[in-house]
Formats: sequence, structure tokens, C-alpha cells
Amino acid sequence: MANEYVVEVKELKKYFPIKSGVLQRTVGQVRAVDGVSFKIKKGETFGLVGESGCGKTTIGRSILRLTDPTSGEVKISGLDIGSMKKSELRPVRPKMQMIFQDPFSSLDPRMPVGEIIGEAVKEHKLVSKAEYKDYILKVMKDCGLRPYYIDRYPHEFSGGQRQRICIARALALNPDFIVCDEPVSALDVSIQAQIINLMKDLQEQRKLTYLFISHDLSVVEHISDVIGVMYLGTMVETGSKEEIFGKPLHPYTQALFSAVPIADPDMKMNRIILEGDIPSPANPPKGCKFHTRCAQCMGKCKEEVPVPKDMGNGHMVSCHLYD
Ligand code: SF4
Repeated sequence: MANEYVVEVKELKKYFPIKSGVLQRTVGQVRAVDGVSFKIKKGETFGLVGESGCGKTTIGRSILRLTDPTSGEVKISGLDIGSMKKSELRPVRPKMQMIFQDPFSSLDPRMPVGEIIGEAVKEHKLVSKAEYKDYILKVMKDCGLRPYYIDRYPHEFSGGQRQRICIARALALNPDFIVCDEPVSALDVSIQAQIINLMKDLQEQRKLTYLFISHDLSVVEHISDVIGVMYLGTMVETGSKEEIFGKPLHPYTQALFSAVPIADPDMKMNRIILEGDIPSPANPPKGCKFHTRCAQCMGKCKEEVPVPKDMGNGHMVSCHLYD
């Protein structure tokens, strides 16, 4: 039976060295990603949420080997991406793509749209010369871009249209898996829904698998099937969208989700305000990394690292409250 998971990540770690002195000796490590494991089924969206600096983007970049992981296992469509040499990675690059947050800086201003979308298609020889133009026009059409845009330059477009060009550029390579790193957070709210709906339509048509990174929980709720909550480089809770939004278990998830606005003026929001700043990933707290900000902290939380526990329906939580 074919593997139902397109993405399999096991104990992924990414540490950045801290250098100091004239000799630039390593004096410490920033633990940006500190032992994260999760899987994504074909055609599903895994929403990754958490405060800025919690390691979401580093996970996306490490999975795609845009930065080399310190340790751990990464498999995409069964291929052991984590241990491949750079030369082995090149032919499989089209199968894993990334859409970035800022559509303004991620497009080369000197290239017309057709070339931006087709550059890597030519490089990887995905279609013949005879089919090339029709292929690019078809991808543009699928992404809601008009045919005459092909010769225009990025500065002639609005933010939403530029993000459509970025999506078309990724899609032209016929990927299995796309990391979407805050793809709508730089756009006006009115445009965000259009782009999210486009991404959902394309996912359905092409059976795409997404890792969707965002700090906007309303957007994540709209697009995700499964959600992972990150805190200081570790995954503290994962589960289906219904489980995480309906029954958040980890105190951090509860605080994060208590800030989601409710579309009912008569409903009172019970917002949980987190005290203190997020600790430094260069010097994370002992035991549970959240204990310095947790209102329910117990003695063992300061000593023992909580391990993930299955609470049923695939809902996993790492917290001593559920020991
Ligand atoms: Fe709070 Fe303890 Fe649970 Fe950590 S393990 S979230 S400190 S209750």
C-alpha cells in the first residue's frame, strides 16, 4: 500500500551557533527547532501556529533543506530529504516548493511574469519547447492571472496579484508539497480570503499537501485539516482542527486561542493574558519550556520535560497536567 503521508518529520533539530571573540569560537547554541516530529497526509494542510520566533519558519526551511538541519529525519514522498547530498537534492527540488510571506521582495523586478513563472520549468526541462508557452499560460489561468500579464513586470501588480504570481511560480513545477510561510499576512484583509480560497481550490484540483505557517488563527482555522502549536522550538500540541479549536488542552494553546475574536457581540471573550516575555531559545528554561509563563505550573514542571501524550482522536499534548 502506498504511504499515505507525503511529509514525515522525526525529531528534527536546528541549532544555530552563537560565536564570540576574535577567534569567533562557538559559545552557545540557539535552539530554534528542538526535536519536532509530525506527519502530513497527502492532500491535507498542516497549520503551524505560535508566537513570532518560536521556530515555525525554521521548520519550513529545514524541511526543504534551504537550511541544513542539525539532526533528525525528514522524508518527503518517501525520499529521505534530510540525508541527501546537495547534488541529489537538485532533481527533486521541483516536488517541494515554498511560498513566502512577502510577494514584493520574492519576485525579481527585472523579469517579466512569464519568465518568473517559467524560469525553473526551463531549468528542470519539465515540458518541451513546443509546449512551453501554453503550459505557462495554463498555470497562469489556474492562478487567476490573465494571459496578457505574461510580458508585464512585478511592479505593475497589486500585492494580491503578486502573490498569485508567486503561487503560479511554485505550481508550474508540479509540486507534491508546498511550504506556505505566512502567505497572506502582508496582504489587505479583503485580498487574503481570495488568496486562501485560490490555494484551497488548487489543493483540491492537484491533491497538493501544504505546511501552512501563520500567526493568524482565523486564517489557519479556514485552511487547515490538522494543527500543530509551537512554543520555543518544540511542538506542545497537535490534533485535528476541530479538536484543537474545540478542546485546546495545553495551557499555552488555551492562552493563544483565547485571543481569537468571536463574531458575536453578546458573547464575552475570556482572554487569557500571558505574563512575561518568551524566554531566549539560546537559554530555554529547564523542564517544561513554558513553565516561566504558565499559571498552572507545578513543581515537576520545573524539572521534568513533558512527553507527548495521546488524548484520543490523534490529539497529542505535552503537559504534566495530563500525566
Ligand atoms: Fe504548565 Fe506544567 Fe503543563 Fe508546562 S507542563 S504547560 S508548566 S502545567
